Amino acid sequence: MSPELVAFAAVAAGMLGVRWIGSRRGRRGLEAARLDHGSPDPVVLAVGAHPDDLEFYAGGSLRLLSLSGARVVTVVATDGEKGGSLPDLADVRRREQEAAAAILGLSDVIFLGLPDRGLARVQEDLEAALHAVWERVHPAVVFSFDPVAPQPPYVHPDHQALGRAVLRVAAARASAGEPPARLYLFHTRRPNAAVDVESVFDEKLAAFRAHASQMTRLEWLVGPVIRRTARLNGRRAGFRWAEAFFVCAAGDPAVWFRRQSRRPAVRRLPGLRWPRTGRGAA
Ligand SMILES: [Zn+2]
Repeated sequence: MSPELVAFAAVAAGMLGVRWIGSRRGRRGLEAARLDHGSPDPVVLAVGAHPDDLEFYAGGSLRLLSLSGARVVTVVATDGEKGGSLPDLADVRRREQEAAAAILGLSDVIFLGLPDRGLARVQEDLEAALHAVWERVHPAVVFSFDPVAPQPPYVHPDHQALGRAVLRVAAARASAGEPPARLYLFHTRRPNAAVDVESVFDEKLAAFRAHASQMTRLEWLVGPVIRRTARLNGRRAGFRWAEAFFVCAAGDPAVWFRRQSRRPAVRRLPGLRWPRTGRGAA
């Protein structure tokens, strides 16, 4: 792992109000980070396309952040109303999302009510809604989908549209003079950081299962997919269970071009410095 990458991830952790408590090099070189109590009170914005997205991809990390005292604001762009045939499914799924957020200790859940399986058609509305949320909460850290290098084979058009919108809004806010948010992009095939979620893994699974209307279709994900993915991420970073992210700064042009680059995008970031805690600090 290059020093630049270690420094980058550590800086990312610092901006999150998260302490870098040691790094271990996994067999495949995925940097290992653990979220812990930080000094300031960061506002974290977690943006999913459908009810259950955030629990599936980042539920453990969001739980750790809420335990550390961070305010975690959740945005769900659609009500997932096409995810079944129950009457009033949109209402059912909103209630399930709120129950899942309660399990993870997330403070606010904002529903945008945009069309399920139709986000790409309402890209302008989506970005306007995200700007409005940004204006309210001024997030220091944002979790959402990686639209540049998504992890195949499950690449959903709503996930792609949402990831694009988040990157565009984050970049626009940064270029308008706001402190650039640190982005944690999930569902990525180019992760550069992993979070140890072993201590909250049961809560992550419980939050996912709170989406009860989906469990007849999605229960199988809990075993073969969630556990296996967490185990593989963990193996790469030296943990038992982990969630993986591509961590970058809002507005970083490398985010857009790293698909074409064989070199880690973080090498393009200017101004990297070793954090005061340094590598391996407790
Ligand atoms: Zn989804």
